[in-house]
Amino acid sequence: MASPAPARSLTQDEAGERARLLEVGRYDVEVDLRGMLEGPDWVATSTVTFRCHEPGASTFVDCDAEVTSATLNGADLDLGTLDEGRLPLPGLAEHNVLVVSSVQRDTGRGAAILRTVDPSDKLVYVWSSFEPDGARRAWACFDQPDLKAPHRFTVSAPTDWKVTSNTAPDSVEDREDGGRVWSFPDTPPLSTYVVVVNAGPFHEIREQRGGHSLGLYCRQSLRRYLERDAAELLRLTEQGLAFFGERFGSPFPQERYDQVFVPNMGGAMENWGCVTWSDAMLPRSRPTFAEREYVAMVLLHEMAHMWFGDLVTMRWWDDLWLNEAFASWAATWASENATDYTDADATFLAGLELRGYQADMSPASHPIRADVPDVAHAFANFDQITYAKGQAVLRQLFALVGDEACVEGLRSYFRDHAWGNTVLDDLVGAISAAAGRDLSGWTAAWLDRAGTDTIVLLPDPGGLPGSRTLLTTSPDGEEPRRHHLRIGSYRRARDAGAGDPAVEAVATTEVETTGTTTSVDLPEADLHLVNDGDLTFAAVRTDEDSLEAMLGLAPYLPDAISRAAAVSTGWDMLSKGELSTGEFLDCVLGVLEVERAAGIIEPFFALALQAAERWSPTALVPRRLTRVAEVAARRAAETDHRTAALRTLAATATRPEHFALLAREAEDEPDLAWATLVRQASLGRYDPEAVEALLARDPDPEAAVRAIAVAAARPTTEAKEEAWQRVFEDRAVPAGPPLGEVARAFWRPVQHDLLVPWADRYLEQLAAIQGEGMLGKLSLILTMQPTTCADDWPERARETALLEQTDPMVRNTLLTVADTLDRVLRARR
Ligand SMILES: [Zn+2]
Repeated sequence: MASPAPARSLTQDEAGERARLLEVGRYDVEVDLRGMLEGPDWVATSTVTFRCHEPGASTFVDCDAEVTSATLNGADLDLGTLDEGRLPLPGLAEHNVLVVSSVQRDTGRGAAILRTVDPSDKLVYVWSSFEPDGARRAWACFDQPDLKAPHRFTVSAPTDWKVTSNTAPDSVEDREDGGRVWSFPDTPPLSTYVVVVNAGPFHEIREQRGGHSLGLYCRQSLRRYLERDAAELLRLTEQGLAFFGERFGSPFPQERYDQVFVPNMGGAMENWGCVTWSDAMLPRSRPTFAEREYVAMVLLHEMAHMWFGDLVTMRWWDDLWLNEAFASWAATWASENATDYTDADATFLAGLELRGYQADMSPASHPIRADVPDVAHAFANFDQITYAKGQAVLRQLFALVGDEACVEGLRSYFRDHAWGNTVLDDLVGAISAAAGRDLSGWTAAWLDRAGTDTIVLLPDPGGLPGSRTLLTTSPDGEEPRRHHLRIGSYRRARDAGAGDPAVEAVATTEVETTGTTTSVDLPEADLHLVNDGDLTFAAVRTDEDSLEAMLGLAPYLPDAISRAAAVSTGWDMLSKGELSTGEFLDCVLGVLEVERAAGIIEPFFALALQAAERWSPTALVPRRLTRVAEVAARRAAETDHRTAALRTLAATATRPEHFALLAREAEDEPDLAWATLVRQASLGRYDPEAVEALLARDPDPEAAVRAIAVAAARPTTEAKEEAWQRVFEDRAVPAGPPLGEVARAFWRPVQHDLLVPWADRYLEQLAAIQGEGMLGKLSLILTMQPTTCADDWPERARETALLEQTDPMVRNTLLTVADTLDRVLRARR
């Protein structure tokens, strides 16, 4: 027996050397979970069959667990040599069989494996999630993405449990010494980070759809929510598999496709054939359209990884951004073309993409692509630049080459590299060949340079009427990127009568910019909307004549994506001090009065709320919140937008009639009732009896967390102290939607004077949580960021960010937060 020292991170060089030396034939992994009903021990025996191209050479296998025995080609290995999660393998033969037995006892904090006990019924559940290098915590393996091999799992578990893995089990049999053994057939050749074993007394729903056996699993205590949403999840799964199978030119090759909702897991993970989801993503109240659309995007994102990520895998973690950006782009694409969520591109622009712009305009901006010297740095640069800007940049690439070349390129990419590993150039090469276009400049311009270009539409003073110039500049002063974009020209309808002004499209002009000035001929119109359709990633400004029309006509533009483009341009101008908060609010509220597309009404409500609450001088906040509340109350009368509007009303309510409406509507909707209590508490009307009563009638097993949010909203120092304790010391609030809710309740910008010291407390707290795992850091730092602060806070935050000991991920987040707060403080003056 040997005790593990802290595991060392694999470097890119070490991985390259091992990939050169070895070829892994297969993994046969036996896992025994029977002890986990009562205790923490995850017991495994991993048999690795592999070739060595240089017999006699040495290498090492990864195992970040307690190793109990190990043999190589039948001879015992010296367990005393196990160091930093690596077991040396000396004197390799050409054909090798390695057998390692190990125990992982650290299964209570979610590092690759989590054993949890449901607080409501005390049932035990176990899940695994290995990206980027967690497989070595579960069993011995060569834990790097480019040593792929079939995995065969044999899992023993307590009798009442169900086990899910990458394939459907061949057999489930009782064991003589207790429990049952689940035997799974060989997977296709997979990277070590996309295999999975989950177990527990899951509730299971299974249906045969479109030639696939689709499974959904969740904890018993959440079954009512899964059953409510099962029809939608199954429909989306069927639609997605059919769409991707056809567009990518290769159907998903396995009958089984499972999705397992598990507790306390941030996000979702694309394990081959067995996606795991954080069950915080199962809404506990009737979901709004935006919540359902978000679930659809996650579902399609993870599914796209079955091809891009699992079938064809990045050779090393420096292409992780591409893996994620591609999956998100593909999810939007599938959503628009194969599901009911046809405005997903507009939703993306009005939400996530704006956060990409926000990060890219801050001093934290960095190129999308970065070196990843070892696995520990795989996620170091992960932020809205890699995710949101990365997705937008891929969309620009596909806009540049067109749909047909894009599909043809992707088909040949998946065909040529199936079950293998690639680098970015393989993808760009395939697209380039299909399009007949050299794309080498594209890669350097978009991926290796930071910052956002600005494109301004100018009248051409010397030119003919209609002749205009697009002036493109880049933030680094270098040659701007080439942009393929669309300009939509619109005019007020001539025969518009009373009521809403009608707007008609005059023309759509596609342009590809070159250098700083590009001529473009545009027809006569009231509004030229630059980057209509949101094809490129750039800050855009229309000409002066069009600006007023853009803000005023935005509500009446025919397409959701065009309205989102107009509002987003307004938001960018507000961020840069070119538009006042009042002007922006007029525009977005004008849109919200009449907006029909469910996909953008919620992001727009969120922008209106931010403008009114955060970007307005404190003295104007109550009046502006009332304006938002009035629009929300009116829209709440419409069935399609009722839930979204009521949620906004709950965040903004000021008048007795608002609260009366909320009280009526919240009777059978705990979510809304909680949000109303948060609002009441923030106004100094905390009602502990109402909290107790709601706790008693809310069926959500995790409802206690909602009470923390209500208490956190109270405008007193004691309340803030108590909430801070719950979040940072007790860790009583799970990541995801619950933490977001507590953060919003805590950081009410209107409580500015009260909150100023807490912005300082946040800076102190950062130092304390530096060393923790990625999940804790990211969710706490991002979610609990201050929404208001003293005038000198941004400068102090920058100083903290630039200290040598500050972790890169913390540094980037802090620089972005400081930059945004600078802009907010300026807008409030
Ligand atoms: Zn992903």
